[in-house]
Amino acid sequence: MGGIPLGRIAGFPLHVNWSVLVILWLFTWSLASTLPTTAAGYSPTAYWVAGACGATVLLASLLAHELAHAIVARRAGVKVLGVTLWIFGGVTRLGGEAKTPQTAFRIAVAGPATSLLLAALFAGTGVGLRALGVGHMILGVAWWLAGINALLGIFNLMPGAPLDGGQVLRAWLWRRHGDPMRAAVGAARAGRTLAFVLIAFGLLEFLAGAMVAGVWLAFIGWFIFTAAHTDEASALTRNALTGVRVAEVMTRQPHTAPAWITVQDFIERYLLGDRHSGYPVKDRNGSISGLITLTQLRQVEPSNRSSTLVGDIAMPLSQVPIATPDEPVTTLLERLASGHGNRALVVEGALVVGIVTPSDLTRLVDVYRLAKPDVTVAHGYRRPSEGGGVRRIL
Ligand SMILES: [Zn+2]
Repeated sequence: MGGIPLGRIAGFPLHVNWSVLVILWLFTWSLASTLPTTAAGYSPTAYWVAGACGATVLLASLLAHELAHAIVARRAGVKVLGVTLWIFGGVTRLGGEAKTPQTAFRIAVAGPATSLLLAALFAGTGVGLRALGVGHMILGVAWWLAGINALLGIFNLMPGAPLDGGQVLRAWLWRRHGDPMRAAVGAARAGRTLAFVLIAFGLLEFLAGAMVAGVWLAFIGWFIFTAAHTDEASALTRNALTGVRVAEVMTRQPHTAPAWITVQDFIERYLLGDRHSGYPVKDRNGSISGLITLTQLRQVEPSNRSSTLVGDIAMPLSQVPIATPDEPVTTLLERLASGHGNRALVVEGALVVGIVTPSDLTRLVDVYRLAKPDVTVAHGYRRPSEGGGVRRIL
């Protein structure tokens, strides 16, 4: 899920996906069409303006919910990759896992707590405005904001991943059994059950005549179902990788690319007829200075290939994830998820002894699947930040 970067908020990169326009429209429409019953006697334009204002404040409330997750995560030492607003509200992407069930619980519960607090705040504003005798329209918007924030707080506490309540359930299972992986699988399975219940309710609502609300509920249920499925598969994949060291997966003694030859030469003499797609780049003195992959090569125009050197376009060593042979694969995956690229150079002392590529990881997972056919594991290897990993909605 991509998004337009909108700078930083509280230090976190903020992205907004175009699908936010859909919810902004839905919220405006929903508020503008309910206001005439709570505050009669205004012009249609006034209702739409009030609807748009209310919807914008609601979007800010969703952002506050996400920022609460992000701030608590940062305080607990968990890296926050960014906050994205999209059709289902928001996503706070974390670059790692909480170290204890207690911190996992605090990160999860911070969002719904903020929504409920905002609900109380808007309800209080509504009560205060009525006491002051302020017009019905603002009153109607305040009560609507209180209602939706309360609904969001409660909905998100339902026990199933990827909802916040699912993360709470996971923290509880983790504390009870002491196994974070097993807890993640449990929370994901609860999410799948929850998704079926939501879809069923959505269909019932649809049949009962509340068509938009019914379809929306079923849509959310379907989203939770697919997200829970991915979460479960990625938790099981991580389980499969537990106890495996980098040395067991890496490609040993990878072919290197000389920094001083042209891209054209490199393609003809090295790349054609080879099966690798990433090469450590070697300087004239024999030391490794970076990494070159097909991604970098594709960015060079064919007409510039004979005038560009491999060393000019290689990813500098400071940006390449580095691993050691004895390191567990799972900690490397966590680093890859929060950094650039999906390849790591394996370094022992001052020597590059291997490279870990996505195909190495895919092979490892596929071999595990072959050895344990009764266990569901995601097919191949998926970068945690793309598929599973730590993710939450709304
Ligand atoms: Zn949340």
